[in-house]
Amino acid sequence: VAIIVMTIIALVLGLHLVAAIGGGDMPVVVSMLNSYSGWAAAAAGFMLGNNMLIIAGALVGSSGAYLSYIMCKAMNRSFVSVILGGFGSDGGPAKGADTDYGDYTETSAAEVAQALKDASNVIITPGYGMAQAQAQFPVADLTAKLREAGVNVRFGIHPVAGRMPGHMNVLLAEAKVPYDVVLEMDEINDDFPDTDVVLVIGANDTVNPDATKPGSPIAGMPVLEVWKARQVVVFKRSMNPGYAGVQNPLFFNDNTDMLFGDAKASVEEIVRSL
Ligand code: NDP
Repeated sequence: VAIIVMTIIALVLGLHLVAAIGGGDMPVVVSMLNSYSGWAAAAAGFMLGNNMLIIAGALVGSSGAYLSYIMCKAMNRSFVSVILGGFGSDGGPAKGADTDYGDYTETSAAEVAQALKDASNVIITPGYGMAQAQAQFPVADLTAKLREAGVNVRFGIHPVAGRMPGHMNVLLAEAKVPYDVVLEMDEINDDFPDTDVVLVIGANDTVNPDATKPGSPIAGMPVLEVWKARQVVVFKRSMNPGYAGVQNPLFFNDNTDMLFGDAKASVEEIVRSL
């Protein structure tokens, strides 16, 4: 009887704990639950006097806790506020939904290829869409081709680009992009003003200039300052918002062009045009 009652109490408590958390915080919650399971295993190890269980549980528990901590730090959110409330789930109206941002301009793969040929400094900022489209292989081809032609191509990796810390690094390594051109956000953020072309491949929240404005749901999150470059090309399929559900004013800037379509197909077409 006791175990059934305990199970029911634990179920209700678990549901209550995570039901209020939503949106961009979900991956943090998953890693936090992972951490909890480790601590539970360690506690069971103490009860059973099993050292193996204590050690394995402590390892899972502390690595999950550390992963949650780095995710929170990269989004500039406190761990406690993630656990206690929702990001993008506060029920308020979507910020900026009725703001008039003006018009955006569309470009084509051939035009982007031409701009890349004329450029001497290029930065690629990938995001979740590159993973979704599995575009890392054509991106690696594009990088190799441009580097052969003497263009300085580098990558700017936001700490929460994608859905896990390190997500982009793993994909780029898989496609054999050289490590020395893959830089962290802090290493590359000052270089955008000297950059000819930035390719934003399937990233959105991580390049949103509104993060610097108080009141935005992503306010305070450090972002890649891509808008400071001479030309920005955004690869995505539509004008839909990213994970945090907020519109991105970057898309409407005069120096931003949209290249609509699946990121993999778009990059492949640019490689062909080159
Ligand atoms: P976003 O989720 O903000 O945006 C991804 C964009 O990719 C979308 O706007 C989407 O636009 C586009 N996209 C999706 N599929 C494709 C496709 N096949 N081809 C081309 N484009 C595509 O990505 P970011 O990486 O910029 O940001 C990550 C978000 O995840 C942040 O909000 C971050 O806080 C959150 N997060 C990340 C964690 C981490 O550890 N990495 C942890 C917790 C949260 P469209 O639909 O128009 O194509």
